[in-house]
Amino acid sequence: MPQKFSVFISFDLEGISGISSWKEVQKNATALREARENATEEINAAIRGISQATQIKEIVVCDAHASGENLIIGKLEKGVTVVKGTPRPYYMVEGICSDYDVLFCIGYHAMAGTHKAGMDHTYSGSSVYGIKINGTYVGETAINAAVAGYYGVPVGLVTGDDCLVKEVKKFFGQSVETVTTKYGISRFSAQCRHPRDVQKEIETKAAKAIKKTTRLKPFTFRPPVRAEFELSNTLIADYAELIPGIKRTAARSLVYKASDILEFYRILRLVCSLGALAQHGFSS
Ligand SMILES: [Zn+2]
Repeated sequence: MPQKFSVFISFDLEGISGISSWKEVQKNATALREARENATEEINAAIRGISQATQIKEIVVCDAHASGENLIIGKLEKGVTVVKGTPRPYYMVEGICSDYDVLFCIGYHAMAGTHKAGMDHTYSGSSVYGIKINGTYVGETAINAAVAGYYGVPVGLVTGDDCLVKEVKKFFGQSVETVTTKYGISRFSAQCRHPRDVQKEIETKAAKAIKKTTRLKPFTFRPPVRAEFELSNTLIADYAELIPGIKRTAARSLVYKASDILEFYRILRLVCSLGALAQHGFSS
């Protein structure tokens, strides 16, 4: 067991306690401030749990929802650094490398197409219908875990709704620690636990995850990484097929064979960026 731990925390907003739809976290929405505060406190709970279990070498928090401007940096526990803003090549896990001992995913959500899951999507709610890697549908947790896994970093803790927790156990097994923040009813409805109850459990589970980190296995996809992108409409596919090396296999589907997960990740970022541009209009 390392004497001092370096922890990478990737943060998404959909899975935090107390919110059930994107409407609540839009700019100028009345619930936005509370959501940002709860998100910040969930990260703080994880930090407290880590420091109960070990000495800290480094904690990096990667703000990875939308344009990465959600956490209230001045209200985070001291001693951390925060990756924020956009664009960045490895977006949700920007900066992850073999210096870290473990990855925590806080506030995550289930993959696109999950029944009853809150705000289910995979990287882009508007462009992506589904993504398969080596024949299996994957969500953001598996993708980001695989980037960490490329560097030998395992996933220790994941928090989000009950649908996400099921997804996570399927991919990583029972050894990963999880916290269920709410119970999905429909895409925009959930039965939410009280934020302070959630924070208490995150603190406990974060400590537990640190104590078993050396026994956790990094999650990986066997290379070459064969990615299938199923997009929301044909226009996005029309633009995505311009990417060198990508092959259009159907009106809305494309395949890309990447030599490793990092190459896949950059193609994923490109497909989503083209999707956004396609939907907001190209001038040529
Ligand atoms: Zn997300």
